[in-house]
Amino acid sequence: MVYLPPLSLYIHIPWCVKKCYYCDFNSHELKKKVSYIDYINHLLLDLKNDLHLINDREICTIFIGGGTPSLIDIESMKLLIDGIKENLNFVSDIEITIEINPGTIDIDLLYFYKNQGINRISVGAQSFSDKHLNYLGRIHNVKEINNAIYLVKDAGLNNINVDLMHGLPKQSIQEAVNDLQKTISFNIPHISWYQLTIEPNTFFSAKNIILPDDDVLSYIFKEGHNLLIKSGYKQYEISNYAKPNYYCKHNLNYWYFGDYIGIGCGAHGKITQSDGRILRTIKTRHPQKFMQGFYVDRKYIISDTDKPFEYFINRFRLIEILPREDFEISTGLKEKFIRSNIDKAISHGYIIESKKYWQISKKGRLFLNDLLELFLIDK
Ligand code: SF4
Repeated sequence: MVYLPPLSLYIHIPWCVKKCYYCDFNSHELKKKVSYIDYINHLLLDLKNDLHLINDREICTIFIGGGTPSLIDIESMKLLIDGIKENLNFVSDIEITIEINPGTIDIDLLYFYKNQGINRISVGAQSFSDKHLNYLGRIHNVKEINNAIYLVKDAGLNNINVDLMHGLPKQSIQEAVNDLQKTISFNIPHISWYQLTIEPNTFFSAKNIILPDDDVLSYIFKEGHNLLIKSGYKQYEISNYAKPNYYCKHNLNYWYFGDYIGIGCGAHGKITQSDGRILRTIKTRHPQKFMQGFYVDRKYIISDTDKPFEYFINRFRLIEILPREDFEISTGLKEKFIRSNIDKAISHGYIIESKKYWQISKKGRLFLNDLLELFLIDK
């Protein structure tokens, strides 16, 4: 009997008011008026084309990400949510998250989200310093972040994540810690705390941006991590901290190597078939082409040689132990397929092995890319 893991849905909204200087996501600056209704109609057609892949499996989580989903007006968003409800079955305790930008939100939109069943809000704050927000090219200031958080709470939406970045150009240890302190003071139950990296093809990569040196980065992490732990958060993933019962179910499903349908520009999907093969879907990146009806860019079965890397790139992000039998349940491969790779990871001190479990070590977290490279298997 083939194990079918929980199934999620990811929906991509590909526009932003302005491109942030560090951003390498599939987001496009709005240069002219776009018909959101048209895009939503295409999203729903894209979804319908994927329905035969999932039969009547229930959806356990939905994530509306981007780009800037909070740009989408109420009428268009209603069309999207109604269309999803018509086409999919939900589990009774479904988690539905939407990302909001503090520069594009108002109370009517938030009440609308709540009435539609959206029950988790992810606020893209990034920093509580106007100087750093400006330097990152964000469209909002600190006052707008504060206001957005008050409005989200006013609307009765209490399952909140705040995205913060650290290791910003010219950021001191104290400034990074202040950002966390400010977030904690709002009693936010989930904090995604990412270190800024300079990615190719971003505005920052074309400039000579100087990031804090390794010593400062390591102090920022140590001080920030200790503050979060002292404040009642648990680090459950490399960059994610949460109070009990507030872990992000959607992201956990990715990290447990669960299944997901991905709709919209550039969205990825992973869907286990009834014969055990795992299908990868990748949608067309550019909105123009997508909105001409070319939804699928690529579709292929994940090969056995690619499965270990794909599995561990997700699963080793989690701090918790990994039952060894889960590898076979999730990939259909025997442990002997990766035995020599696991042995190398143990000999480097990247993972710890017991009779029943593996667990990523502190060293493994620090050298995650090196650890994962060990699972790149030649074809
Ligand atoms: S708001 Fe988010 S998705 Fe949009 S440009 Fe900035 S970082 Fe990228």
